[in-house]
Amino acid sequence: MTASASVNDVDLFVIGAGSGGVRAARIAAGHGARVMIAEEYRIGGTCVIRGCIPKKLLVYASRFAHEFEDAAGFGWTVAPAAFDWPTLIANKDKEIARLETVYRSNLEKAGVEIVKSRAVIEDETTVRLLASGARVRCGHILVATGAAPFAGHPIPGFEHAISSNDAFHLPALPAEIVIQGGGYIAVEFACIFAGLGSRVKLVYRGENILRGFDDDVRSHVRTEMEMRGIEVIVGELVTAIHERDARYTVTLTGGRTINADRVMFAVGRKPNIANLGIEQAGIKTAPLRSATSPTGSISPRSRSARDTPSQIRCLAAGPPSSTTPTSRPRCSPIPKSARSASTRPRRGSDWRGSTSTGQRSGPSRRHCRAATAGC
Ligand SMILES: Cc1cc2nc3c(=O)[nH]c(=O)nc-3n(C[C@H](O)[C@H](O)[C@H](O)COP(=O)(O)OP(=O)(O)OC[C@H]3O[C@@H](n4cnc5c(N)ncnc54)[C@H](O)[C@@H]3O)c2cc1C
Repeated sequence: MTASASVNDVDLFVIGAGSGGVRAARIAAGHGARVMIAEEYRIGGTCVIRGCIPKKLLVYASRFAHEFEDAAGFGWTVAPAAFDWPTLIANKDKEIARLETVYRSNLEKAGVEIVKSRAVIEDETTVRLLASGARVRCGHILVATGAAPFAGHPIPGFEHAISSNDAFHLPALPAEIVIQGGGYIAVEFACIFAGLGSRVKLVYRGENILRGFDDDVRSHVRTEMEMRGIEVIVGELVTAIHERDARYTVTLTGGRTINADRVMFAVGRKPNIANLGIEQAGIKTAPLRSATSPTGSISPRSRSARDTPSQIRCLAAGPPSSTTPTSRPRCSPIPKSARSASTRPRRGSDWRGSTSTGQRSGPSRRHCRAATAGC
């Protein structure tokens, strides 16, 4: 679309091609609506590109060490196993790229017009595409912009901490890593790194990890983590990170210091609503429940046209609390039969990235299928 095409009517404009936006766009287009979707980064959003799916592939990779150990006990002769992080990351990227293509093609097949651009709301019926400057007049606007890692409150050296986004692209597996956070993202990454061979310390400010989960589950997960060599440090916060020669010294509230090759913060996520123009559409934001995040989320009260002034036809995708640091992970309870077959690896497709020697060079079909299931 060019700047000259300044007005382009659509029934539904979706901002953000993540899980929520893609699904809504496809369903609406399937019912005959003229739909345009804008994505500023990659089609598939957090879940496909830097969330559930790459994470699950890393989780599967991290389990093999134990499988090899167990196999020996069952009579298998297992040659000394070696792990190569760059190979895992390259194959994970290959699978994510393939899934992105599938998501794009499903949108196209449904007749959705895809625009690679940041989109901002000008008023309750107009969206502007920053890439071209074009304005689109819309019957409805769906805000499906998701969330991004919250960097944490500024402490000395907090710029050295990586987020979950960065963890998917580390050039090497850290020998030692400190992870701050007690939610599911922090816990899962602690287990991934430990399973792959890193020495992991998990620092959490509260009494026990996984706040909001069933207490038995919290205790069980913590015990299992500790049995696997992860040191879980509770009731502490990271107060400073000092860098020297690409090594980091982390200081905790109690005064203890820890050395590591990497420091990761997984302390919550903030909604992607900054400079989006939602105020122009009359949408109010509600403060988040947790004090750890500085920005609000779209108020549940302004999520539907019913609750907002009659002119406002903006909708927010996803549960309003899904981006708060206190929220729990929820895989949609979609029955297997109802899931879109097209988002699963297809039989006969190049899901394994086979090499010319016929060796398997990527995640197995079973693992790719499992990684995409339920998200
Ligand atoms: C590490 C990690 C692991 C996770 N694991 C799981 C799991 O196992 N199970 C589970 O159910 N959930 C999991 N989640 C959560 C899940 O990924 C999210 O709940 C889900 O992706 C939210 O979907 P969404 O469509 O609301 O937003 P997103 O998927 O974040 O999509 C929003 C999209 O909007 C785009 N965007 C933002 N602003 C603009 C703009 N102004 N213009 C154009 N584009 C814009 C963004 O680039 C993004 O692509 C995980 C999340 C993370 C971070």
